Amino acid sequence: MYGYSREEALGHISNQLLQTQYPGIKNSAFATVMETGSWEGRLVQTRKDGSVIVVDGKRVLDRDAGRILEVTREVTDEIAHSERFKVLVESVKDYAIFLLDTKGRVSSWNEGARRIKGYEDHEILGRHFSAFYPQEDIEAGKPERELRMARESGHVEDEGWRVRKDGTRFFALVVVTALYDLSGKLTGYAKVTRDITARQLERQRLLDLERSKSAFLNLVAHELRSPLTVLRGYLSMFRDASSERRRDLEERSLPALEAKTIEMSRLVDQMVEVARLEEGSLRLRADRVDLCAIADEAVGLVRALEEPPAHSIVFEPFPGELNVLGDPERIQMILSNLLSNAIKYSPSGTEVTVMLDQTAELGRVAINDQGVGIPLSEQIRLFSRFMRVDRPGSDHVPGTGMGLYLSRELARRMGGDIVLQWSGPGGSSFALLMPLAEK
Ligand code: ADP
Repeated sequence: MYGYSREEALGHISNQLLQTQYPGIKNSAFATVMETGSWEGRLVQTRKDGSVIVVDGKRVLDRDAGRILEVTREVTDEIAHSERFKVLVESVKDYAIFLLDTKGRVSSWNEGARRIKGYEDHEILGRHFSAFYPQEDIEAGKPERELRMARESGHVEDEGWRVRKDGTRFFALVVVTALYDLSGKLTGYAKVTRDITARQLERQRLLDLERSKSAFLNLVAHELRSPLTVLRGYLSMFRDASSERRRDLEERSLPALEAKTIEMSRLVDQMVEVARLEEGSLRLRADRVDLCAIADEAVGLVRALEEPPAHSIVFEPFPGELNVLGDPERIQMILSNLLSNAIKYSPSGTEVTVMLDQTAELGRVAINDQGVGIPLSEQIRLFSRFMRVDRPGSDHVPGTGMGLYLSRELARRMGGDIVLQWSGPGGSSFALLMPLAEK
């Protein structure tokens, strides 16, 4: 191992011959052997050819013979290997890789751990690893449970929220492995943690989307079912009626049949528009149109379709034309939506007012109702897709949450907007704003 022959070595003081160094050892190994009878430790020595080797040494005192027996085993390669491994672990940035002692205290810390969890070595070494868990998990005994499971099955995987040094949370994918020495004694745990917050948020987003989609399909099916029931009812009455009775039935049922058909086509039109919007295939005209005439028409339609007892719809026309740039069919659709909401969310017998005015650049149609109003907390989400306000007393009101979302998108794409001007327990006021056409 050292390269010396017996002749070359005999008679030399071994520490001089081998240039023995004691890395990190304060007490003299010689004194320890003399006092306690033995010494064990790591040594750095030099071969005859000058190369340095690392050995694990053991010295035992034979008092009677006045000798010290020294046994060494070379560990240079093992050390180089584990040093390389340390460097590898240390340089990993995307994973927190660290060790815990048997009590769960942090005993090593790598670059990834510093980056993901925010602690420097001196801030975390020696601290219990429950520092990484949210309070509720600590109270529920989760950190201890994780170690126990790792001990029992050798290895445990977990996903969940963890806490950084600054108190912010991240979603972690964690693997804990129990570590044992050759005799089977537990020496600690290795933990590898990955920050998968982005992935988790995306998962959550898809889940929410899936949920809102099926809730939406449910609502649409429900919305289509009620007018269909009315249509089918009338159809079977027609089928069974005598020819005189049919005439009478015709007169009574036509307005309802028309109203229900229009209700269904409006719903289908809205769905088609939303699909176009989201596919990016929506084409909008930019015609010069009279906002006042379109509003008048929308009011006329709503009035004709309302079943008694109805609202009183007050239309205050603009003196003269109010020419804006936009797609007349879409403006009509938006105003019908706003009017239908004003009616749906206010008690019958109350007034719905439609007023027009203009500013320097915009034409405005305001639709005011005396209805239930919208709680302040819901007002910011009002224009989100498929958003409906949950409030006691209006659960029975039909709707899909498409109307305001679609209306605002359409208005904005025509260079205008829809705004909630005010809302409270006494009612609400929505306005459509459209860019004025050149004179
Ligand atoms: P819906 O199909 O549910 O009517 P909208 O997108 O048109 O969908 O409206 C979204 C939500 O905004 C409705 O569920 C309703 O609670 C609320 N809302 C809209 N307009 C009014 C209004 N004039 N008064 C009170 N609440 C309204």
